[in-house]
Amino acid sequence: ITDSGDLEGIEAARAPWRSEVFHAAPMIAGPVVGAAPLTAVNPARPEDVVGRVVHAAAEDVETALAAARPWDAPAEERAKVLRKAAELYEAEFGPAFAILAREAGKSQLDAVGELREACDFLRYYADGAAGLTAPARGVFACISPWNFPLAIFTGQISAALAAGNGVLAKPAEQTPLIAALAVRLLHQAGVPETALQLLPGDGPTVGAALTSDPRVAGVAFTGSTETAQAIRWAMADNLDPAAPLIAETGGLNAMIVDSTALPEQAVRDILASAFQSAGQRCSALRCLYVQQDVAETVQTMLFGAMEELALGDPWDLATDVGPVIDAEARQGIAEYVARARTEGRVLKELRAPNEGHFIAPLVLKVTGIADLEREVFGPVLHLATFKAHEIDKVIADINATGYGLTFGLHSRIDDRVQQVVEQIKVGNTYVNRNQIGAVVGSQPFGGEGLSGTGPKAGGPEYLARFTKGETPAGGRWEGD
Ligand code: NAD
Repeated sequence: ITDSGDLEGIEAARAPWRSEVFHAAPMIAGPVVGAAPLTAVNPARPEDVVGRVVHAAAEDVETALAAARPWDAPAEERAKVLRKAAELYEAEFGPAFAILAREAGKSQLDAVGELREACDFLRYYADGAAGLTAPARGVFACISPWNFPLAIFTGQISAALAAGNGVLAKPAEQTPLIAALAVRLLHQAGVPETALQLLPGDGPTVGAALTSDPRVAGVAFTGSTETAQAIRWAMADNLDPAAPLIAETGGLNAMIVDSTALPEQAVRDILASAFQSAGQRCSALRCLYVQQDVAETVQTMLFGAMEELALGDPWDLATDVGPVIDAEARQGIAEYVARARTEGRVLKELRAPNEGHFIAPLVLKVTGIADLEREVFGPVLHLATFKAHEIDKVIADINATGYGLTFGLHSRIDDRVQQVVEQIKVGNTYVNRNQIGAVVGSQPFGGEGLSGTGPKAGGPEYLARFTKGETPAGGRWEGD
């Protein structure tokens, strides 16, 4: 998998898992009661049954909480086990890629990136374990989203474990199968059953039970800003006041393209930023500002390039844009688009396949980012224009959203780049490139304001937050 160009190798490893029915159930240190079994289907082909899933019953959450223990092995031993887990992940890339495509709608390119990032997290936090000076906190609840169901899931867990904590992991209800594979491999590598337990289930039932239980010493959460706020309240009412919430949340991300930008490069980066992963990245570009004197050129090139995007089943290696995660997501976005259509704001729209939960990439006209009601988590790009003298107002409007996750700038004026980058309040700024990348260890990722508490995941300060060495004030959140 180090060579993502080796498509034949990937194909061969993935092929046996094309029609496999996978299983996920609570993995706890005690007997499982379980809720009624559910069927997981492929968002691109709803007739494809990907798995059978048993959610945790209230009794299972209680069993797990009662059995949970910190991982008290020495730091070198924990690091060794996490490195071993990374090897096992790599060895199991066939089923991992199959589940990522069929359960989460991930394209091959996205699946390769995810597995690599998950392994990077395991090794990076393993490396950091020996340098920690403060003791573990106890038991962490790790609550993760469906859009990076392997990388973010593994990142949270491996940080908590590297620091010597126990983990109660609650994956998103849309992606329990890849989570079950990951936990099996972590156990196989040597993480004790009492230090890592898996509780599949929904947010209001399983997630809320964990974040309101005083036996939990801290919460690592990635997901929407609204859910983080609900968790903050639940923790404040029930958990030790010293228990940290480490939250990575949503964004309203903008890009500015000025008249000195190279249009071909800008268009390539706009396409990737807005439409890769069907726009289901927290970092994805939502609102594009193009300087008026180049707006027609950029718009014409962008709409032409969009025509080249291949929509379809992510199992197909040629697919650029897969489905959105489920029927509910599709319906929510479709209703938003329908409103924009009645207002005559649709500038460009592709055609979606007839079956599956697809939203065709589209561009909506806006006057500015203030017109965006909320984070629309799909392939919907909003387009605004600005005149040269309006750039300060554009920056003020972007900052006024209160979010602060990613920002992109295409410009060849050095002074402007420096000035804009200094003024924009976001965690991650990308100049003359796409705005969706993060690299564990060298390009850590995390937001400001309503987009997260910090510290950045995959960065040098992240691990210490899982120890008693830091107080919650170290990660104050403007969503409070
Ligand atoms: P979500 O907030 O709906 O769910 C995230 C997780 O929280 C799920 O496991 C869910 O079951 C759980 N949950 C829901 N309600 C809960 C409650 N009351 N108590 C405890 N847990 C609860 O988010 P999602 O739809 O899975 O993911 C998409 C969102 O995640 C977007 O807003 C996106 O921007 C954000 N995101 C942010 C980052 C980042 O690094 N900043 C990365 C990925 C995704």
